[in-house]
Amino acid sequence: CGIVGYVGHQEVQDILLSGLEKLEYRGYDSAGISIQNDGQLDVIRAVGNLSQLKAAVEQREADGGVAVLVTPATTGIGHTRWATHGRVTEENAHPHYDPEDRVHVVVNGIVENYMELKQELLDSGAAFSSETDVEVIAHLIARDLEEHGLVESTRRTYNRLRGHYSFVAVAAEEPGVLVGARKECPLIVGRGDGEQFLASGIPAFLAHSRTVQALEDDELVVLTADGARFLHADGTPFERDTYQVDWDA
Ligand code: GLU
Repeated sequence: CGIVGYVGHQEVQDILLSGLEKLEYRGYDSAGISIQNDGQLDVIRAVGNLSQLKAAVEQREADGGVAVLVTPATTGIGHTRWATHGRVTEENAHPHYDPEDRVHVVVNGIVENYMELKQELLDSGAAFSSETDVEVIAHLIARDLEEHGLVESTRRTYNRLRGHYSFVAVAAEEPGVLVGARKECPLIVGRGDGEQFLASGIPAFLAHSRTVQALEDDELVVLTADGARFLHADGTPFERDTYQVDWDA
């Protein structure tokens, strides 16, 4: 229901958590974040409201489980879930990931053809860790990652999905890169100086950026700390004008 993503130079978990807070008004039943650091992705999720997620993050830090204690991590994604497929459990909260933990995704909306995609993955031996319709996205991207890299794998996966959704993917082995895609669910880029934001609603990053670029249907965006590049679902690159948001947070 709510998506946030960040790549830049600031410590990422506070930006993700405060961004999710700004999207709370839309309602949710669980929440989670994934933080990229040292070639791995740490996922922390919790059922209930964001204070539950914050407590889980603090607990993980106290346990030394989050690498951010060693080096500040500056790339990550976050989500507030409003369950449509699968019960309200920690396993069904986003981010979702593939069995080898290489790709993490946060997804809004519904993947209508997930049953056939899931069956195809099950037939090739994949094990699923959630009951959701969206875990297939992480599996499909991860399956192509070796050969095609994150951007092209995300684009290929996007073209296999039916329904309405927006999502953001991050790969353990591609530091400082987020890939977003949109079909009939909002996804908006916030531009900064050496940092970029991505969210399902502008309020999520308004404290940090007022220079925005909205994705349209069948468009993808690739964010790195230095900027954003856009491509159509058929792979053609394009430019998107920025506009300034002047309303108050
Ligand atoms: N269909 C997904 C799920 O049930 C995403 C729901 C949402 O937009 O929060 O997990």
